[in-house]
Amino acid sequence: MSLEPVQVMSGDAPEQLQVRCSANGERQGSWEEDTEARKDETEHLTLRDAKPTLRTPYWEEDTEARKDEIEHLALRDAKPTLPKPENAVTVAVSSRVLFRTEREQRVFEQQGVEEYLRFQVEHENEPFAPGPAFPFVKALEAVNIRLRDLYPQSEELFDIVLVTYNHAHVGIRLINTINHHNLFIERFCMTGGTSPIGYLKAWQTNLYLSADADKVREALAEGIAAATMFMSEKLSEVSQTELRVAFDGDAVLFSDESERIFKAHGLDKFFEHEIENEDTLLDHGPLKGFLEALGKLQKKFYAKGHRMDCPIRTYLVTARSAASSGIRALKTLRAWGLEIDEALFLAGAPKGPMLEKIRPHIYFDDQMFHVEGAAEMGTIAAHVPYGIAQKYPRKQ
Ligand SMILES: [Mg+2]
Repeated sequence: MSLEPVQVMSGDAPEQLQVRCSANGERQGSWEEDTEARKDETEHLTLRDAKPTLRTPYWEEDTEARKDEIEHLALRDAKPTLPKPENAVTVAVSSRVLFRTEREQRVFEQQGVEEYLRFQVEHENEPFAPGPAFPFVKALEAVNIRLRDLYPQSEELFDIVLVTYNHAHVGIRLINTINHHNLFIERFCMTGGTSPIGYLKAWQTNLYLSADADKVREALAEGIAAATMFMSEKLSEVSQTELRVAFDGDAVLFSDESERIFKAHGLDKFFEHEIENEDTLLDHGPLKGFLEALGKLQKKFYAKGHRMDCPIRTYLVTARSAASSGIRALKTLRAWGLEIDEALFLAGAPKGPMLEKIRPHIYFDDQMFHVEGAAEMGTIAAHVPYGIAQKYPRKQ
């Protein structure tokens, strides 16, 4: 039988809800009676009608097991974290040296900025080809993989910043290119045409590579290790697993003090000066800090027993000769606490053939003719526009 609402309304009130008169004549509802039976009933109803209390979800429980699980999942799913600039070895590369952008550069120079932007947007799904800094950046990433294996929590890694004067429209093509080549570059510095030097300082940049010699000079003047890179048609194959970095000595790792003697007074005076000053340390040059940063990471491999298979190898390739002027260079490096894996004293012989054997990912020299000589033989060479040699562009 279904109860019509009207029947309930019109029928007798159920027994327990009847209104009675109490002893003092006041009317009292049965629901107000304070009997034991009523108490029990109230309790029962309270329990029946109570909203179920919410249990703490298991993921909020603060148990040790749960914490371990969260940590495990975080480590498993984590993308490699971005290190803080003070811990990282920060390498800033411009888009024009990381990728080949000559065609776009021509559009910009010949047709202006609007046409250039239109061209970039039209081609944004077309990745740029690798440029001269590409193998170097790949090698930095290979070292990072080894470092993360040995030190999962450490922030002492290479951190790569892509620096570009470009407009944000071009950023889409750059990101597409980075993804296409499986590069791990999360930091972008898109300056929209203004100088990036202030940002480089804020990022505590350890090395800046650019196609723009003026910007490189500006960075050097601010005490940032920097070099200009050029596109070379012939490029040697380089190691995929071991980062090799080669440095010239004078006006690169060291100051140009001795170079000045040589330029002003010739080779004999230079040798004489170096022997006289054998025990006087050379002052530091613009790239010393970068060698130091490489040394810091090398020591992390040594500490875990990986001296022999350390994936970072450094080279000094200098025109100095071992017997007469090499000793001062070696004593200076030792006093700085810097190890160099291989030192080649060429005594004026051309550097190109030696570099061809080393196959570095990058070779730094302050003299353009050495850079050109190395590049002709397929070495990726970068110019450090610093010191007295800039006044003598060709070999004397
Ligand atoms: Mg030099």
